[in-house]
Amino acid sequence: MTSKLVPRLLLGVAVLAATPFLLIAADPVKPIIEVLKETPAQPAQTVEKTDEEWKKTLTPEQYRILRQAGTERANGQVYKEFKEQGGGTYCCAGCNTELFSSKEKFDSHCGWPSFYDPSKAKNVKTATDYHLGYARTEVRCAVCDGHLGHVFTGEGYDTPTDKRYCINGTVLKFVPFPEAKEAPAEKK
Ligand SMILES: [Zn+2]
Repeated sequence: MTSKLVPRLLLGVAVLAATPFLLIAADPVKPIIEVLKETPAQPAQTVEKTDEEWKKTLTPEQYRILRQAGTERANGQVYKEFKEQGGGTYCCAGCNTELFSSKEKFDSHCGWPSFYDPSKAKNVKTATDYHLGYARTEVRCAVCDGHLGHVFTGEGYDTPTDKRYCINGTVLKFVPFPEAKEAPAEKK
């Protein structure tokens, strides 16, 4: 090893060691659940794309969940973000359709975002799946046919429906209520 190479190697090691800190400093709080300033334009009709088109518009994790019926990790960063969010609506990350709102959100302690009902029932559809070897009711976006999660009934939660829409937060976009609009609803 030459004497010139050693300092270079040391520099390389120093840069590599600092890289995680540089990445954190550059991107400190980017949430997994995208937060929008206002409700996005709602699709006028069903949204159909090829797999290649979906891959261009979704993150790999969103693609895995929405298009391949995947499931996000329970009790992860997404659940933390969801629990800390205030009032607002939740739209499909695939097609922007409004699906849920904080008014039907409840804390099921299951590790995934939970709602007792959709906010826009016509935008959410269900189907039966047997992926785990027994029947479960799958929840899909009615507009882009993306997989959102599952709905379970009769678990004894103290909610108006006794349903738990167990939804992958990764495939939602959050639109906080404007303060002015939220205030009158709170007074009811
Ligand atoms: Zn959708």
